[in-house]
Amino acid sequence: KKVNVGIIFGGKSAEHEVSLMSATSIIRAIDKEKYNVIPIGITKEGNWMIYNGPIEKIENGEWEGISNKLLHDKPKENVFSIIPIGKKENQMQGVVPPGLEKKIDVVFPVLHGPYGEDGTIQGLLEMADIPYVGAEVLSSAMCMDKVYAKKMFELEGLNVVEYFVALRHKLKTHMDDYVKIIEEQFSYPVFIKPVNLGSSVGITKARSRDELIQGLNEAAKHDRKILIEKNINCREIECGVLGNDNPKASVVGEIVPSNEFYDYKAKYFDDGKSKLIIPAGIPKDKSDEIRKMALTAYKALGCAGLARVDFFLEKETNEVYINEINTMPGFTKYSMYPLLWQETGVSYNELVDKLIQLALERYKGKK
Ligand code: ATP
Ligand code: MG
Ligand code: MG
Ligand code: MG
Repeated sequence: KKVNVGIIFGGKSAEHEVSLMSATSIIRAIDKEKYNVIPIGITKEGNWMIYNGPIEKIENGEWEGISNKLLHDKPKENVFSIIPIGKKENQMQGVVPPGLEKKIDVVFPVLHGPYGEDGTIQGLLEMADIPYVGAEVLSSAMCMDKVYAKKMFELEGLNVVEYFVALRHKLKTHMDDYVKIIEEQFSYPVFIKPVNLGSSVGITKARSRDELIQGLNEAAKHDRKILIEKNINCREIECGVLGNDNPKASVVGEIVPSNEFYDYKAKYFDDGKSKLIIPAGIPKDKSDEIRKMALTAYKALGCAGLARVDFFLEKETNEVYINEINTMPGFTKYSMYPLLWQETGVSYNELVDKLIQLALERYKGKK
C-alpha cells in the first residue's frame, strides 16, 4: 500500500520562495511507486491550500491561483480542514476533511524559517498526531533561535563566535547605549542578524557606526531580538547530519560566496557564481573535528531526521567556530545538504525516501 505524503511548501516566512524551490525538487524526486504526494501550499498570508496542479507552477507562484477552490474560499478553515485534528483511527473511519480524499500518513514540511523550521508547524502536526520529517518542537525552536542555540553549543563546550543581543523595543530609546556597548565589545566590521531567520534575510555586515545603526534597524524589521557578532575572517564549512537516535555526519563542504559574504543574493540569484566545493579542501583532522562537532551539536539540541550544521574556519588561526544548525536546510538538487549526502553515498532520491522513513520510525517509537 502506498504511503500518503503531505508535502507542505511556501509559508509565511521571508524564505517562502526558497521553500517553493526545495519542494519542487522533492516532489519531482519522490518515489511515486511507493508514495502518493499530496502537495499543500501555504501562501505568504498564511492561507493553506491543497494543490493539484502541475509541478512547474509551484516555483513561479502560479500555484496559488489554481489551488483547491473550496479551501481557497474559506481561508480561516484551512489549517483544520487540511490537517485533521484527532486520531488516525477517526480519520480512517471516513472523517476526512473536504478537499482531501486521502488521509495523510506523514508530512514533509518543506518550510524554511519562522512558521516552518521553528517548531510551530511541528506543534500543529504533533496535535494532529501526524508523523513528520525533521526535528521536533523544542529542537526546531532552539535551532531557529540563534541565541538559544549558541547557549546550548556553549554548554557542550563548542566554540562559538563572540556575540551580543539587542532588543527591538529598546532600539528607539537606547540606541546610543547599544552603540556604545557594541563599540566597546567589538571592532568593525560586525555582523548583525535577526535572531530567528535564515537565508541571510535581514543580515548585514556593518563597517561603521552609521551602518551599525542601519543594520540594527534592518534586523529589527524581522525580529524582536537582534544578534551582533564579531566578524570572523573565515572559510565557510558545512556538514550534513542524517538520522534520529544514531545520526551520521556527511563529508564536509565549503562555500565560496560570490559576494562579500554569503547573503541572500549570493545564495539564490548569482546563478552558479557562489561555489560549493564538496568535499571541502581542508586537512582531514579539520574535517574530522568539524564532523564531530556537528554530531555533538545535533545531539545536544535533540535534532531528528536532518540538519545542516554551519561552521567558520578562521583563515589564520585555523580555529573552528560553530555558527548555526538549520533543521530544514535548502533542499533543491543544487543545495548543499543533498549534495553533501550525494558525495557521502546517498543520492537525492534515496535521501528523500530515507527522511520519510525516519519520520515514520520516530513516530512508531513514540507509540
Ligand atoms: P542559512 O540558514 O541560510 O544558512 P542564516 O540566515 O541562518 O543562513 P548565517 O548562516 O548565520 O545566517 O549567516 C549567513 C552568512 O553570513 C554566513 O554564511 C556567512 O557568509 C556570513 N556570516 C554570518 N556571521 C558571520 C560572522 N560572525 N563572521 C563572518 N561571516 C559571517
Ligand atoms: Mg540558518
Ligand atoms: Mg536556514
Ligand atoms: Mg547559515
